[in-house]
Amino acid sequence: MKIANWATKIKNNYLFQTVSDKLEKFREKNPEKKIINMGIGDVSLPIADKVIRACVSASNEMGKISSFRGYSPNGGYDFLKQKIKYEYKNLGILIDTDEIFISDGAKSDMSNILDIFSHENTCLIPDPVYPVYLDTSIMNDMKIEFADATEQNNFLPEPDFNSSKKIDIIYICSPNNPTGAAYTKTQIKKWVDYANSCGAVILYDAAYEVFIEDNNHCRSIFEIPESKTCAIEFKSFSKSAGFTGMRCGYSIVPKNLKRESISLNYLWNRRHSTKFNGVSYIIQRAAEASLSDEGKLECQKSIKYYKQNSKLISEILDKLSIKFFGGLNSPYIWLKCPNSMKSWEFFDYLLQNLNIVGTPGSGFGKNGENYFRLSCFASREDTQEACSRLKKINI
Ligand code: PLP
Repeated sequence: MKIANWATKIKNNYLFQTVSDKLEKFREKNPEKKIINMGIGDVSLPIADKVIRACVSASNEMGKISSFRGYSPNGGYDFLKQKIKYEYKNLGILIDTDEIFISDGAKSDMSNILDIFSHENTCLIPDPVYPVYLDTSIMNDMKIEFADATEQNNFLPEPDFNSSKKIDIIYICSPNNPTGAAYTKTQIKKWVDYANSCGAVILYDAAYEVFIEDNNHCRSIFEIPESKTCAIEFKSFSKSAGFTGMRCGYSIVPKNLKRESISLNYLWNRRHSTKFNGVSYIIQRAAEASLSDEGKLECQKSIKYYKQNSKLISEILDKLSIKFFGGLNSPYIWLKCPNSMKSWEFFDYLLQNLNIVGTPGSGFGKNGENYFRLSCFASREDTQEACSRLKKINI
């Protein structure tokens, strides 16, 4: 018996696990200290009232013979897909409901999608980026190339039309975790043109789309019409409606997207129906409610709250003359460690001296070294407290 090839190729520890292990050790040694966690990108505000009412009502339906539901239809319930379709229509994008696949979140989708591609493909992964793309590409035995995201390109790498390297799968995360950078429509158009020119498929992670502030930035890759022949989009209710613990997301696979004359929509549907038995009725009703007029208003209030946190942190960093990026179209602030400190050094400094936890940039890729991510998802009180502690940085 042999275990998977990736066992020896993958880094020992998932980044956030390492952070939480260090945090736990510090807690054990310093039980009296109040630690502020601005590291992991989990939300802190509760689910909107409208959404909770939908959950309760759907739960009650499940307890009555007349309204009980078993397995969800493959790909999700039509009531939710219609709402999603309408959201796209508001952006001027027409999609069919059979191009939408409801799932338990973007993380699983972004990993599972590799099932429909050969492991002989080469993936282009931004560096730094959300670690899941690299780990799942390794787990699927893909060949890997990196696109450098650095201060020089504002952490938004562009396609290299002159490169002789053959790229098959392109990961784009915009607004980006961890750098907070977001691509404009003009920049995304370049990636779309590149993918169409070489036959690559873009995996577009728009998990933070609700943080976009203006019309210049892409809320969906399908705002670029030519993307329907080269892109798959992933969205999540985790950040838009606080569903990190509820679990719901979706992917959009256009029917025009084909490779080797086979529809990727068909392949994804085939894969989905074989390996996944759907998201619960209750959660799909909850997601539907988050897209109702009342639900959206409530959810937007939470997004505003997080954006205000982001403003508070940005102001302090400005005052301290610490260089930072992001925080505008994104819930993440990507700062340059003061005094050229290494990312993990700065992590230890903040934890030991100010009892603040953040995420070391180097954990997101080699280009993340000397950078540090702060998340704006903490409570207002914690954010304010963190801001007053940050004033004491003395390096
Ligand atoms: N994509 C990115 C870029 C993320 O940062 C995260 C979560 O932090 C996810 C996807 C996961 O989304 P979900 O909760 O829907 O699995």
